[in-house]
Amino acid sequence: MCGIVGYVGPRDVVGVLMDGLRRLEYRGYDSAGVAVVNGGSVIGSKRVGKLGNLAEVLRHTPIHGSAGIGHTRWATHGRPSDSNAHPHLDCKGRIAVIHNGIIENYASLRDDLLRRGHTFQSDTDTEVVAHLLEEFFDGDLVGAVRRTLKVVTGAYALGVLSADSPDRLVFARNGASPLIIGLGEGETFVASDIPAILNYTRRELIVQEGEVVEVTREGALISTFNGQTVDREVTNINWDIGSAEKSGFKHFMLKEIYEQPKVVKDTLLGRLRDDNSINLRELGLSDERLRGIRKVTMFACGSAYYAAAYGMYLIRQLAKLPVELELASEFRYSDPVLDEHTLAIAVSQSGETADTLEAVRIAKTGGATLLAICNVVGSALARAADATLFMQAGPEIGVAATKTFTAQCVDMALLAMHLGAVRGTADPETLQKLGDALRELPSLVDQALNVDDEVAPVARRISKATTMLFLGRHVDYPIAMEGALKLKEISYIHAEGYAAGEMKHGPIALLDENVPVVVLATRGPVQEKILSNMSEAKARDSRIIAVANLHNDAAIENADVVFAVPETHHLIQPIINVVPLYLLAYHIADHKGCDVDQPRNLAKTVTVE
Ligand code: GLU
Repeated sequence: MCGIVGYVGPRDVVGVLMDGLRRLEYRGYDSAGVAVVNGGSVIGSKRVGKLGNLAEVLRHTPIHGSAGIGHTRWATHGRPSDSNAHPHLDCKGRIAVIHNGIIENYASLRDDLLRRGHTFQSDTDTEVVAHLLEEFFDGDLVGAVRRTLKVVTGAYALGVLSADSPDRLVFARNGASPLIIGLGEGETFVASDIPAILNYTRRELIVQEGEVVEVTREGALISTFNGQTVDREVTNINWDIGSAEKSGFKHFMLKEIYEQPKVVKDTLLGRLRDDNSINLRELGLSDERLRGIRKVTMFACGSAYYAAAYGMYLIRQLAKLPVELELASEFRYSDPVLDEHTLAIAVSQSGETADTLEAVRIAKTGGATLLAICNVVGSALARAADATLFMQAGPEIGVAATKTFTAQCVDMALLAMHLGAVRGTADPETLQKLGDALRELPSLVDQALNVDDEVAPVARRISKATTMLFLGRHVDYPIAMEGALKLKEISYIHAEGYAAGEMKHGPIALLDENVPVVVLATRGPVQEKILSNMSEAKARDSRIIAVANLHNDAAIENADVVFAVPETHHLIQPIINVVPLYLLAYHIADHKGCDVDQPRNLAKTVTVE
């Protein structure tokens, strides 16, 4: 899942590379490294641990060059260490390679190269590429890369630098490892993701699978692995640079939690009409095609899976369709029954999640219509899909998803309402009410953020807990799971999100005065039942933290702490209820001194299976 960058141009090369890596560190932070061409040699520096360690080394021993590559690693092969950090060099130290992904046949290639006399410095799969390039290089770097690509298998974005080509970099992409080129005036940038180059240019070329790119100051020449030139249109990126900066917040995650009202507003823009009808013409799926759907199959990973679970309730209720939900990583083993009347919905923030892309392949092979919910234009998912509903969340840098989950839920609501309207299965009065609820949602999410002041002291009090339970029913059940996931991810406290009714069938055995229980207890058709579950937990001495509506005494009575949130239609309420859960996880992690934006062992865009 690493982040890779490259630069050719007149600026301080290492400065540009480090700036880019800083914005890609969310993709991995096991180690970082850079390499540049300087006076006919390759020089570089690399260090285990976060980028700050490398920055420290470079402060003492600065390096300069005409072109360079950089890498921030999320280890797949070989533990995090200085020697396993990228870039990796060939035996002569004249070719440097960075890599995002996995070279699947590295073991046999390595054996072969060892037999041919090459010596290896690392345990990574990546290093074989440097030695293969050494074998194939005869003065033509692109040619050597092409020959290397013929023998390696797997998924990768590769970046290559050679002492013999001081003003040129070569990159290649295969599979789910994103790669973009930023075009400047007399300078060219390369990165795994947009925020890394947003500071310098907004004119980008999106490199696709099976392509090689030759990068010089003048721009980039894209071709297929076989050497056919590709004419790629320039994409203009309209993301706001502020959204890739912390703007005064202590952490990106907190800033992104506070961006939720804007994200909801942007996601609704142009899609919720004044008369509350839904405009999803952007999907390009005709009403007739949507009326022909007999079944919905959804798959996703992590938070996106919980957003899909929320959507499942809405689609069943409004579109009256059978809905199946699978973890994307399990989809291929689930013998899915698919046909041309199946609507497959894939949810992924990055659109590069390897597990999701594999499920997409299976869904498409089975003849399903593929609808993607995704945040990144030009991503592999968006390209593979028959239709894409974009999230309009802007870049999310915190590794733990927050605002993008919110956007996914809003997209799910819009989609369910659209399906319900087109198919004539949703009650028009309900659709009107849901439209009203969505219209006021940005301001209600904004009001929900007011609980922040109350959450912080509660978080301090419970930060010593080792287990927590999150309970919800119906549409709040996925929110309970998302709240528990967030706590696990950033505070390392064990947490479970449970369907409240299921608690008595097992997890209630865990409860005592040391296990806080968070209960989603806002008004709605299941409120009475959830209040009973709250009493059951209270009777086992657990400290109860309730998310409840203002002045709702019934919910407040049994709770030790109440996070009061504004009320809306019960089907939309979960999008408000998640706000205090995010703040709770954030403040607990912050209080414990955890690295909120870069939790251990995680990376944001999971491009390996
Ligand atoms: N497989 C390479 C390594 O372990 C790159 C990992 C990645 O892209 O996450 O160093």
